[in-house]
Amino acid sequence: MTNKSLILIVEDEEAISNFISTILTSNDYHIITTKSGKEAVLLATSHVPDLILLDLGLPDIDGIEVLKNLRQWSSIPIIVVSARAYEIEKVEALDLGADDYITKPFGTSELLARIRNALRHSQGNDNSRSGSQVFTVGELKIDYEKRIVKIGEKEIHFTPIEYKIIMLLSKHVGKVLTHAFIMKEIWGPYTNENQTLRVNMANIRRKLETNPAEPKYIFTEVGVGYRMAEKVIL
Ligand code: CA
Repeated sequence: MTNKSLILIVEDEEAISNFISTILTSNDYHIITTKSGKEAVLLATSHVPDLILLDLGLPDIDGIEVLKNLRQWSSIPIIVVSARAYEIEKVEALDLGADDYITKPFGTSELLARIRNALRHSQGNDNSRSGSQVFTVGELKIDYEKRIVKIGEKEIHFTPIEYKIIMLLSKHVGKVLTHAFIMKEIWGPYTNENQTLRVNMANIRRKLETNPAEPKYIFTEVGVGYRMAEKVIL
């Protein structure tokens, strides 16, 4: 890799910061680290990293405040690092413009996959933005122009709302979309269609997945939202 990406690690727990640093440097990323939220904002301004890993529980200012500050002037991809069972915090971060989140404790491959995905999105290299009119993952094929969805050679029929939801998830493949974001995109800003969304998603899964209880294409992020898989092992 000739053009190494620079990643800013904002994490006050030394063990975790060291763990992340080691993984990233051994995978050819450049890193800068800080334990402080205030310094994170300064470093983001001075170094303009390609990606920021942001712990939400910081000693000086809250990670959410750092995120708000950064999003006022920057679209640098931000992956929030959060403790388990803090779903509300994750949802808030995503709705404030975080690109993704990762839950502690996490493993090496998960961290690297999330980083690659966020970098790819920010560089506009994903499947959906390459100008292609056809989206594919695993056996799933969506032809945006003809509005046809297929699994293998078999065409699957969806209601207009179901189709809109699938299209939305595929346009953001690999990224978790919050319930609020999906509802706003599909039904507009003034509705609360949480229950309807759930019903639609159940119907989509029934049509799409071989085993809806173990989905391969659309994952539930408990308490947060849904994510379309980037890769499917067939
Ligand atoms: Ca912390």
